[in-house]
Amino acid sequence: MNAQSPAALAPGATLGILGGGQLGRMTALAAAALGYRSHVYCPEADCPASQVTPLFTRAAYDDEAALSAFAQAVDVVTFEFENIPLPTVEILTRSVAVRPGAEVLAICQDRLREKDFCGDQGVATARYAAIDGPEALARHLRDFGTPAVLKTTRLGYDGKGQVRLEADSDPAAAWAEMAGGNPEARGILEAFVDFKLELSVIVARGLDGEMADYPPVENQHEGHILRTTIAPARVTPQIAEKAEATARRLAEAIDLVGLLAVEMFVTEEGEVLVNELAPRPHNSGHWTLDACVTSQFEQVVRAVMGLPLGATERHSDAVMRNLLGEDAEAWRTQLGDRNQKLHLYGKTEARPGRKMGHVTRLAPRNEG
Ligand code: AMP
Repeated sequence: MNAQSPAALAPGATLGILGGGQLGRMTALAAAALGYRSHVYCPEADCPASQVTPLFTRAAYDDEAALSAFAQAVDVVTFEFENIPLPTVEILTRSVAVRPGAEVLAICQDRLREKDFCGDQGVATARYAAIDGPEALARHLRDFGTPAVLKTTRLGYDGKGQVRLEADSDPAAAWAEMAGGNPEARGILEAFVDFKLELSVIVARGLDGEMADYPPVENQHEGHILRTTIAPARVTPQIAEKAEATARRLAEAIDLVGLLAVEMFVTEEGEVLVNELAPRPHNSGHWTLDACVTSQFEQVVRAVMGLPLGATERHSDAVMRNLLGEDAEAWRTQLGDRNQKLHLYGKTEARPGRKMGHVTRLAPRNEG
């Protein structure tokens, strides 16, 4: 993409952001650095993104009048989480470009569609099956063996709606736990992957199909919540290449404009299996704010505004740690460490496990 292209939105234009969390906040800050305005749409008052821009619509995602006014007020729309209701995006799409588009969201909102999509592209995942109730679960469990993981196809995150099954697990109880009282719930059963490590790759794709990806990073979870990201991942060049090629293939096939974060498992045998896709900035990309020429937040702004993508080279190695719940109370200590950078999200209530901020520790880039 050429910055002179008529499709490029010039500084002064307004980026609409659906969702008001920390990802929206950091996107709005990056947009401001490039001379854009951001308008945040979020149902909650005083959300992290609304604190950094005066343009804020507080309304429900099904408020058609508010959505129409929002569409009129912005030049392009992006989103900071993938569980935006599809009808919301469809209403907006009538009068403004939404990037990434509704079809990308539809795939990434549904774990089953996501895995089918990977399979269609020849991309490996854990073995899986669609599950519509406890009987199907019992049947497939006999076939898959244990351990296995039952996940809700929709609206699960940070381990919510996920149940690990062992040899003595009761399928009916597991189904009830996964469904959480929702009679509409559908499940996906996955074989348990005894992975060596978890990786993610964030790839950007511009309006003209140009792509740029960040090096694979290593993600360590605790209680299903990302705790630490190590950049770059400690893997062989072959694994890194396979992971990057996979992310690029998926971004192209899904016709992405924006960012796609691809979470993967690496096995002892060197297999790379895709676990999950997120079509937005991702927690495992926060390190790019402090260690790369172009952060993931600047990159998503560039992509959706129709600008050329920025360089994804890192000038430092980095370890990012999330500050969860009460961790953020130690902000003075974190601030005093000269080798790290503190980011806080402006959240007032420190519930256990809630992402309140992160710190990134930088080290000279190791070429080894
Ligand atoms: P997800 O919500 O799918 O991102 O899963 C959250 C975390 O649960 C992953 O990052 C893994 O640590 C673990 N997990 C999910 N699916 C599997 C699986 N099929 N095998 C082993 N671990 C899994």
